[in-house]
Amino acid sequence: MKVVFISLAPPKGINEYPPTGLLSLAAMTKMKGHDVSLYDAGDRKNRGYFSCEELITMSPDIAAFTTYTCRMRDIYSAIRELKKNLPGCIVVAGGPHASALPEETMKECRQIDYVVRGEGEITFCELLDAVNERKHDGMSSINGLVYRDEQDKVCINSNRPLMPDLDSLPLPAYDLVAWVNYIGEPIFKQKSAAVYSSRGCPFGCEYCQQAIFGRSYRRRSPKSMVEELQVLKEVYGIRAFYFFEDLFAVDEKWLTGFYSEMRQRDIGLPWACLGRVNNSTRGMFRSMRENNCIAVYLGVESGSQEVLDSIGKKTRLEDIEKRFIEAREEGLVVGAYYMIGNRSDTFSSIDKTIKFAGKINAHINYFSICVPFPGTKIYPLVNLEDKSDWTRFEELSANPLSVCGIAPGDLVKLRRNAVRKTMGSLKYLFYNVFADKTPFHIRIYCFKTWVAARFPGLPVLARRFGILR
Ligand code: SF4
Repeated sequence: MKVVFISLAPPKGINEYPPTGLLSLAAMTKMKGHDVSLYDAGDRKNRGYFSCEELITMSPDIAAFTTYTCRMRDIYSAIRELKKNLPGCIVVAGGPHASALPEETMKECRQIDYVVRGEGEITFCELLDAVNERKHDGMSSINGLVYRDEQDKVCINSNRPLMPDLDSLPLPAYDLVAWVNYIGEPIFKQKSAAVYSSRGCPFGCEYCQQAIFGRSYRRRSPKSMVEELQVLKEVYGIRAFYFFEDLFAVDEKWLTGFYSEMRQRDIGLPWACLGRVNNSTRGMFRSMRENNCIAVYLGVESGSQEVLDSIGKKTRLEDIEKRFIEAREEGLVVGAYYMIGNRSDTFSSIDKTIKFAGKINAHINYFSICVPFPGTKIYPLVNLEDKSDWTRFEELSANPLSVCGIAPGDLVKLRRNAVRKTMGSLKYLFYNVFADKTPFHIRIYCFKTWVAARFPGLPVLARRFGILR
């Protein structure tokens, strides 16, 4: 069968990297002997515009969409248009939104034939087998599948158990990717790839959506991970790696094995990763830097201890501050994630967050507005009428949902303020551009960040005249 995996763009802008989750599904599907392609409307060629004509020319038997909450309106209209033109095409929805709200997804869009919930590799392949053999009555035995029975009732099968052994998965189908269409992480000067060594997270932060990989932490062996890096380097010409999972820098023993594999295979390329304040140490940062890591990103979220406690982050402000100092002293570029509008946030606690971010003064700061995604502990706080407008479930929305009692417009202003007061400050400019020892291109990146934060109108003009992308 001809199977096309489809990803729509993020709400604003272009995907930095190909959709690795879909590539993993694509690899399993190929192993089963199907004809597989990828259509990424968020790559640099499509620039966010979904073209049904292009999809129709691919004439898929199966169209598999990954679903993100804030894009559901566009995803539904893409699916309706596709079905109107190719009524025989079977549409499958997977990914975070459909996994969290399978029944609603099937009901909101009757053109979706199946939802694959959670980790999709095995469920999707079993579905293809059943479709191939025209066994509609076999659908009830496929764990993780959601389908309509003969009476048109939406049936949700039992959960698919999480995969215990990630090494058993094939490498993502990188051969489907047109690498030139991805911009990569700006801190790398070279062509880079986003990779994952683990799935799941045992922590339970209240804003985190864990509908796909669950709370059981599973990790590939260092050998399997480095084999993938080697293929990316030698076959696809990748020159830097970004470990995109939340919990990469958390386990010294695993990292030691990883470094040794990298040396044996002579990988020798720069990389960056995410880590967790409680699970990282100065020694870990030192060994990371010695083994070509250039940047580490840590989730801070709030500068108020009360808010951190209430969202279940299980971190202490003094530890956060210490980790950032250590990582910087060991020569790493540091990135910090902050979130405003948490359930217990007030104007005063957000002010504390902005001040704390100014004190930490990371090279890279991301400020988002807390989104009560389906599947999180805070989703029930969203009132019914807001649930019908999925575009409001976006971290950078102009009209975000508020779960803390602060008006949406004020949250947007506070976020803008946070960017200006931290990355647009003279302290940021001095310490991250002039007095910093990071490579020249990182300091240029920080300088551009400072200009954009200090003079928000300038990048818009620069883009209009083609000076910035
Ligand atoms: S936010 Fe990070 S640490 Fe918290 S539950 Fe999610 S993945 Fe785990």
